[in-house]
Amino acid sequence: MASVELHNIHKAYGALPVIHDVSLAIGDGEFIALVGPSGCGKSTLLRMIAGLEEITDGDVSIGGQVVNELTPRERNIAMVFQSYALYPHMTVAQNMGFNLKLSGETKQVIEQRVNEAARMLDLTKLLDRKPAQLSGGQRQRVAMGRAVVRNPAVFLFDEPLSNLDAKLRVQMRSEIKALHQKVQTTSIYVTHDQIEAMTLADRIVVLNQGRIEQQGTPIDLYRQPANLFVAGFIGSPA
Ligand code: ADP
Ligand code: MG
Repeated sequence: MASVELHNIHKAYGALPVIHDVSLAIGDGEFIALVGPSGCGKSTLLRMIAGLEEITDGDVSIGGQVVNELTPRERNIAMVFQSYALYPHMTVAQNMGFNLKLSGETKQVIEQRVNEAARMLDLTKLLDRKPAQLSGGQRQRVAMGRAVVRNPAVFLFDEPLSNLDAKLRVQMRSEIKALHQKVQTTSIYVTHDQIEAMTLADRIVVLNQGRIEQQGTPIDLYRQPANLFVAGFIGSPA
């Protein structure tokens, strides 16, 4: 677990500014939902925390240390996307262990961590299957397993459920919540689905055109939206 802090973050793609002076403190073990309409800068913000996108101005700190100059691997962060991009020729176990193998972990360590993650995510019986033999929900669980085996201090989710059908989304929602509690990481969860945000998060951060409109507990935002934008976004079903 580690805290994550954003200090006056600015981001421009060329001449186009997309993040304007965003500051945010996320506590150890907290589950934050980052919500806002398409194009408001959610993915850009996550990618800067992960080290996948250069920061134009400002600092990102993880566990109290400024990480601007660190590579994604050095930041000890795991990211789960909506397209889970599993290797089709590898088994579930090989997919989950691949990053550990790249880091030079021993076979025993890899096997132990993969088995442990598989138990958490109910994948034990599927370890020898190939991705093509899995359902969409199972594939997404493998993608999460691949992240879990690395014992990340911070989990970043970028709309991980948006490719799944409605019923599966509800089921995966509780699995993500359970996973967060079992692994005890700090989680930042990007979604444009306010129900997902309301049910999962300790705190919701509403982003609009690269600025934070409001942050608070789900119930605070629901009861006391700071403005019409937040009211419209949190109060009405998608
Ligand atoms: P969200 O995830 O909230 O939908 P993004 O962070 O993907 O938003 O995008 C924020 C803004 O930055 C959008 O206007 C988008 O078009 C722009 N953008 C995102 N990535 C790039 C890029 N690599 N190059 C130029 N513009 C980008
Ligand atoms: Mg996005």
